[in-house]
Amino acid sequence: MHILILGSGGREHAFAWKINQSKICTKLFVAPGNSGTANIAENLSVSPTNFPAVKALVLYHNIDMVVVGPEDPLVEGIHDFFLEDEQLKHIAVIGPQKAAAQLEGSKEFAKQFMMRHSIPTAAYSSFNANTIEDGYQFLETLNAPYVLKADGLAAGKGVLILNDLEQAKTELKYMLLDKKFGKASTTVVIEEFLDGIELSCFVLTDGEHYKILPMAKDYKRIGEGDTGLNTGGMGAVSPVPFADEVFKSKIEERIVKPTVEGLKKDNLPYKGFIFIGLIKVGNEPKVIEYNVRMGDPETEVVLPRLKTDLVEIFNAIHSQTLHNVEIEIDHRAATTVMLVSGGYPEAYEKGKEITGVDSVNESIVFHAGANLVDGKILTSGGRVMAITSYGNTYQEAIKKSYQSIDNIKFDKMYYRTDIGFDL
Ligand code: ATP
Repeated sequence: MHILILGSGGREHAFAWKINQSKICTKLFVAPGNSGTANIAENLSVSPTNFPAVKALVLYHNIDMVVVGPEDPLVEGIHDFFLEDEQLKHIAVIGPQKAAAQLEGSKEFAKQFMMRHSIPTAAYSSFNANTIEDGYQFLETLNAPYVLKADGLAAGKGVLILNDLEQAKTELKYMLLDKKFGKASTTVVIEEFLDGIELSCFVLTDGEHYKILPMAKDYKRIGEGDTGLNTGGMGAVSPVPFADEVFKSKIEERIVKPTVEGLKKDNLPYKGFIFIGLIKVGNEPKVIEYNVRMGDPETEVVLPRLKTDLVEIFNAIHSQTLHNVEIEIDHRAATTVMLVSGGYPEAYEKGKEITGVDSVNESIVFHAGANLVDGKILTSGGRVMAITSYGNTYQEAIKKSYQSIDNIKFDKMYYRTDIGFDL
C-alpha cells in the first residue's frame, strides 16, 4: 500500500515512524514532512491545504491512503474533496469530513453538540456583535476567572482566561467588535471556569465502532511549573497516573460512548481520531474541547505505546470493521520532552544547526520544526524536536529523555526540565 501523511510536525514524524513498521505499507510519503520524515519516507513539498496539489500527488504516486495530521485541511474539507472526486473517492482518508470537523473548527458547534448529547462540559453561552450587551450581562452573572473563547480556529491563542470583570468585558469587545482574532472571533463562547487537572483521551472511530488509545497528559506552558505563555505543547506523559480504572470508565461511559453515538445520531460521518481534551474536576471528567486529529506532542507518547499495526487499524477504519481489531498496548510508560527555539512562543530565530541527534541511543527523536539542508539538520520552527523514551515508570522514562537531551545541541535551545514532576 502507498500511504501519504499530510503535515510536518513531530506528530507526523511519529505517524511515519509507526506506519514505517507496518508490512502493509510498501511506500510512504509525507507532505511536506521534515528532516525526521526524510529519513524514513519520501518528503513531497506540497501544503496539506492545497487540495488540487494533494490530488496531483495522490494520482502521480498511486496513493491508497491519506493520513491527515493537522486540523486545517480537515476543517477545510479535505475528506469531502476526496469523496466528491471520481478519481479519488476510493482512497482511504483518515480524518473526519468537514461537517464533523466542526467539532474542532467551531467551539459553539462543539458546545451545542455536547448539550444535545448530555456530555459533561462547562456551562456556557455564546454571543456575537449584535448580542454583545447580553454578553456583558452574562459575564456579570459569573464569578472570576472568566473564560472567553473565539469560536473559530485561532492557532491555540483564541482562549482568554481573565481574573478581572472589566478586563473580561474589554476583551469581549476586542473579540466581537474589533475582530481581535479575525473571522474566528465573530462569535465568542463564554464559559464557566473549571478548576482541575487536565488530561487527554484519544479515540479512534470508523463512525460505527470505537477504540480508546492510551490517555496522555501534556504540558502547555513555556515555563517551569506550568507558567508563562501557552505553547503548542512542551512535553507529554502516558499513561496518566491519576486516571485510574474507575475514572477511565467514567470517561468511556459518559463521554466517549455519547460522543460516538452523537455523531451517528447527528448524521456526521467520522473516520479518524477524536482527541478529547478533559479536565478532572473532583473525580468527575468534563470536556474542555474536542480536536478532530491527534495531539502534538501527545502522539509522540501514544503511538510508541501502541503495539498493533497502525495501518491495519486504518484499514479497519476505512472498511468500518474497527470492532474486529484488537488494540494492544505496551505496558511501559512513555514520556516526551520538546526542544524549542529560544524565544518561542514569541519571536525566535530559525536556521540553527542541530548536532548530536545520531548519538541518541536510548530515546526516539521525533523531528518537528527541523529541515535537512545540504546534509545538515537546521531548525525551521518554534518546536524543534520531541525526545521520547520508554520506562517501567514514567519517572524512569523521563530521566532517559533528559539524559538523551544532553547529546543534542543547537544555539538558544530551550526545554522544560520539569515534565512529569507534578504527577
Ligand atoms: P488548543 O491549543 O489546546 O487546541 P484551544 O485554543 O482549542 O486549545 P481550549 O482547549 O478550549 O482552546 O482551551 C485552551 C486551554 O484553556 C485549555 O487547555 C485549558 O487549560 C483552558 N481552559 C479552557 N476552557 C476552560 C474552562 N472552562 N475552565 C478552565 N480552563 C479552561
